[in-house]
Amino acid sequence: MNIINIIDKKRKKIELTKEEIDFFIDGVIKNEIKDYQISSLLMAITINGMSDDETLYLTDAMLKSGDILDLSSIGKVIVDKHSTGGVGDKTTLIVAPLVASLGVAVAKMSGRGLGHTGGTIDKLESIKNFNVTMSLKKFIKQVQKMDLALVSQMANLAYADKILYSIRDVTGTVESIPLIASSIMSKKLASGADKIVIDVTVGSGALMKDVETAKELANLMIKIGKKYNKEVVCVLSNMDQPLGYAIGNSLEVKEAIEMLKGNKEPKDLYDLVIKVSSIMVSLGKNINLNEAKALVKENLENGKAYEKFKEFVKEQKGVITKIKDDAKVFSLKSNETGFISKIDAYRLAECARSLGAGRYSKEDSIDYEVGIVLNKKKGDFVLKDEELVRIYYKNKDLKINDVLSCFEISEHAVNYDDVIIEVIK
Ligand code: URA
Repeated sequence: MNIINIIDKKRKKIELTKEEIDFFIDGVIKNEIKDYQISSLLMAITINGMSDDETLYLTDAMLKSGDILDLSSIGKVIVDKHSTGGVGDKTTLIVAPLVASLGVAVAKMSGRGLGHTGGTIDKLESIKNFNVTMSLKKFIKQVQKMDLALVSQMANLAYADKILYSIRDVTGTVESIPLIASSIMSKKLASGADKIVIDVTVGSGALMKDVETAKELANLMIKIGKKYNKEVVCVLSNMDQPLGYAIGNSLEVKEAIEMLKGNKEPKDLYDLVIKVSSIMVSLGKNINLNEAKALVKENLENGKAYEKFKEFVKEQKGVITKIKDDAKVFSLKSNETGFISKIDAYRLAECARSLGAGRYSKEDSIDYEVGIVLNKKKGDFVLKDEELVRIYYKNKDLKINDVLSCFEISEHAVNYDDVIIEVIK
């Protein structure tokens, strides 16, 4: 067997065998297959796709390419949450402590920003001294103590995914359903969760641009979960406009804290938090969805979710009163009157990235306090010279016209989009 034949087969749309896929992943982790050969096969997969069997073999090989955590000593059902990525997506910062405040164990590993999308770990690091790494022993102890620990991916978990992802990120091979499904599911299965809720985002700011492909991805991940006896529930959510108002690390942490204190705005963020948390609580406690929803709403309102967040930040050495915020602020006004008919999430995220909120290469450092905060969402009415957004900046160009061009304004009333598209299980 050799890698050139395998690439050739995929190029000719011939199905790969389990042995060939195992050979590929083995060669990747042993550094025996060159990056250009890896990217060539990834591109052939992106163009020609994979059968469900091939995707299952790939997931299995990636899952077994590193450590597999055993969290059974926690003694509770572990419910994990993952998002396929978005703009302004601070859901985990709210959902994790909220669900934990109801006694559901959350032992979660999160990522950093990727491409134009943000990452929970970068957001948490905008809290002074917050510690995103710990030993597995401490991780388990913390979950036993307070039902919540949130760290960056442990080094060796789904090791092949780390290598493949960093190559996909720079070779135009991110947007492939089998590659996304195997990447997400290998990590989730390796991280020891019993039940998994996946927010599959759809729209201009997401990897899945339309509902049909998002459904295909969701069904594939559910099918993979079933093979491993793990219940997977997918929430398809709208990412045509940014989620909530804030884009940028510390700005998003502040917006999350306001919601943890009981603020029900912005509505899209609130609705998504309630939906994802209710599903997680119903899975974790084995109760019906309505019961779970009532508990979730109660703990957001009575302050218990916020108490849990403060306890968790303190345990991971963060100083909650010290969230990085020394950016300058520019108030950008609308140059027309009308209804907001479109906010291009992808391009707005690129504007935030160019201000320093995200990275262009792995080595880049980020400015935690910069970003963009919307004053208007799709469907809102805006007057000429009324504030459209606030731009938080430090030392990079403001690019005002780029930000303005992300908005379309219509003289006709525009409907608000529901953030929840569908739940698939
Ligand atoms: N998130 C992941 O972890 N992997 C992908 O491929 C896409 C989103």
